[in-house]
Amino acid sequence: MLRRGRSKKLRVLLTRTLQDFAVKELQRHYKIEIHSGPFPMPKKKLLLKIKEQDGLICFPYDNIDKEVIQAGTKLKTISAFSVGYDQIDSKYAKKRKIKIGYTPNVLTVATADLTITLILDLLRRVTEGDRLIREGKWKEVFGADTYVGEEVDGKTLGILGFGRIGKAVAKKAQTFGIKVIYHNRNRLPLRQEKALRVRFATLNELFSKSDIVSIHVPYSAETHELVNKSLIKRMKKRAYLVNTARGKIIKERDLIFALKRKIIAGAALDVFYHEPIGKNHQFAKMQNVVLSPHIGSSSIVTRAKMAEITVENLKLGLAGKKPIYSV
Ligand code: NAP
Repeated sequence: MLRRGRSKKLRVLLTRTLQDFAVKELQRHYKIEIHSGPFPMPKKKLLLKIKEQDGLICFPYDNIDKEVIQAGTKLKTISAFSVGYDQIDSKYAKKRKIKIGYTPNVLTVATADLTITLILDLLRRVTEGDRLIREGKWKEVFGADTYVGEEVDGKTLGILGFGRIGKAVAKKAQTFGIKVIYHNRNRLPLRQEKALRVRFATLNELFSKSDIVSIHVPYSAETHELVNKSLIKRMKKRAYLVNTARGKIIKERDLIFALKRKIIAGAALDVFYHEPIGKNHQFAKMQNVVLSPHIGSSSIVTRAKMAEITVENLKLGLAGKKPIYSV
């Protein structure tokens, strides 16, 4: 017997696939469509597909701008597989009363771990040594001052953006004997600073006093190219810059100039102005730069939790409820 009034499944578009368990869960509830392949969904295709969708699951490299949201006339929920949601015109989405979910907290540990890994790698020149061996250039054995790097113990780490990830990096860094200063728009209460053993610094101070500056602010109009030559030139000649937040926070041209001219000692970068970058990118040609392909949250455990939350956020949003983590 046909059940009257049985509603049709809502439609959900994924701009990239998720883990099998998450796809299966989505299939149980919705009619889903997945853009496959290693590259982001072309805008033209996105504009066409979004028209029929009730929900959208998107990734950091997508561009869910006003035009896309406008085209999604049925859209009720956008669920981002990331903590950063700068890829979504959230202001316009809110105007349209579209719910937006994202995945904070669960990726804090993984991203902080990667940041510490990059700092140690950069200062102790591990990847540089790896390249040397693979290129068959390891000739000198244990010279008194060959392949020497820097120790992190006693160094000052300046954290730009002392939120979830910034705080987790501070805690881990302190176990290596690193001193931590930080900059936020809003200073923490003194009691909290004391408990966390950190000191507030102005933006200029952070760049001039640190041996390592690590970026953990979200990308926004305010942080667009915030780290440019005027801040970089304040850094110590032996200082390092680390970015595991978003590429466009750094004015890339200014950093390349500073690295080439040895205005600073080196950089470790997980994120870039335009991703992916290839072997011909200027950064890929510099020995004093360590690169990783945007893997801040890429641990099996974290990515599974992110998928779980992304699906749950979407389900709640499509049911007219508030996502677990709502923008
Ligand atoms: P969060 O908890 O929101 O922390 C961000 C901090 O930045 C806040 O303490 C905020 O404090 C500060 N801030 C914001 N705008 C600022 C500005 N204009 N100047 C100075 N400080 C500013 O975010 P989170 O979870 O730590 O994540 C941070 C970012 O990391 C994300 O937005 C994402 O883009 C990036 N991320 C990257 C990866 C990766 O794969 N590489 C993985 C995870 C996250 P105030 O409001 O007081 O300024």
